[in-house]
Amino acid sequence: MAECKYEGCNRKAWKKFEYCIFHEPSKDKDADLFWNGIDRMMKKKDYNFGGFYFIPRKGEDFIDLREIEFYGTFNISFSKAEFYKDVAFNFCIFNGNVNFSEIKVSKDSSISFLGVKFKKWVHFSLTDFPKLTYFTSAVFENKAIFLGSRFQGKVFFNDSRFLEEVDFYETKFMRDMTGKFSGAEFERTEFIENGYWRNALLGETNFDKTFFKEPKRHKFYHTDLSKVEFYDTNIEALDFLDPVWSKINGRKGLYNEVLINNSNKSKEVIWNQQLRSKDEIFSEIETLYRQLKINYENKRNYPDAGDFYIGEMEMRRRNPKTSRFDRWIILPFYKCVSNYGEDYKRTLYWIGGLILLSAYSLMFTGMKVKERIIDYYPSLPQNPNGLKDFGELVNIVARSIILQPSAFAESTSLGSRIILTFTTIFGILLIALFTLALRRRFRR
Ligand SMILES: [Zn+2]
Repeated sequence: MAECKYEGCNRKAWKKFEYCIFHEPSKDKDADLFWNGIDRMMKKKDYNFGGFYFIPRKGEDFIDLREIEFYGTFNISFSKAEFYKDVAFNFCIFNGNVNFSEIKVSKDSSISFLGVKFKKWVHFSLTDFPKLTYFTSAVFENKAIFLGSRFQGKVFFNDSRFLEEVDFYETKFMRDMTGKFSGAEFERTEFIENGYWRNALLGETNFDKTFFKEPKRHKFYHTDLSKVEFYDTNIEALDFLDPVWSKINGRKGLYNEVLINNSNKSKEVIWNQQLRSKDEIFSEIETLYRQLKINYENKRNYPDAGDFYIGEMEMRRRNPKTSRFDRWIILPFYKCVSNYGEDYKRTLYWIGGLILLSAYSLMFTGMKVKERIIDYYPSLPQNPNGLKDFGELVNIVARSIILQPSAFAESTSLGSRIILTFTTIFGILLIALFTLALRRRFRR
């Protein structure tokens, strides 16, 4: 009999095949023979399953590896193993280091680690998870490494706990390169130590009530967060370095906001899915934006902090719990004239526009300037003095809004008095807002 062709395997090849019963990549191989062998290995605490081709036991439709305790501190290896069918490791206890690198799960099959305890480190590097993956309630007591893995279906980390470092470097939570997102659920997941999320593509991932004990040590460097939702999760101190945020009207924003913007028709559905009322959702997103703003201000990244401040104000403006006065007058006005104090140029245009419009109106309501009355009503200015008079009035209006009224000018009608008063009040307000926006733009 020939030897198994799998590198490092010294077993005899099975029947006339090239590989032993464990490595033979055939779904029709003798399941009893295969499983008797596995059972014998388990008894001997021989946990080297590297490159094995797993099939279900006879009469079963999934590969059942549930509730097994892997004893000792020996290395446990499933590296490059293949699983034909769904596979369940639910409630296993791995006492030694475990290697699940580059395992293969057959197309349309799920893999489940429900409630599993990893006592030592575990490697899931460079693994393709083709369908659903469950780490629900799993406990990672040591390092967990998912470097370069691809979750093509949704992966559930709900209620799981990472007591040590977790590495999601270049992990992709997505279906395929066409950009179809599947993502991960980190609902109520606890991260006790640091985490690397560098270059990870998170897909439609949900951080809901996620707990980061050491938020400053969770590095989201160049991480794609454009489809990530946060809820009830504090993001004030997470370490963001140039991650990809969603774009909302040209500013950086949260995917939470994109979702409520895109869901005109199905708005109610989204509120219900989140089990929150409309105003709760707006307040929560507002809080998240405030946390992000503080996060970025602490790093002196004021332009991006400004984007998140706009998001914060937008959420307040749209929140049904905000007073009507703020919702319909103050915030829309603030947005309109200075983009919530973030756009000093916009305020400058308003000031210019106000002066020109006001000066133009004064031409038809009557102003006495240097003993001469300017009043073109009811026709348009025909004489060559028209432009000069307009210039004179621009000067008068401009002086009135900086509270230096011209001594040579006097209103000759109620109309021009009203225009001047209104222009003065509005102008002073705009100048104040301009100063604020300018200061904010060039702070330290
Ligand atoms: Zn072999």
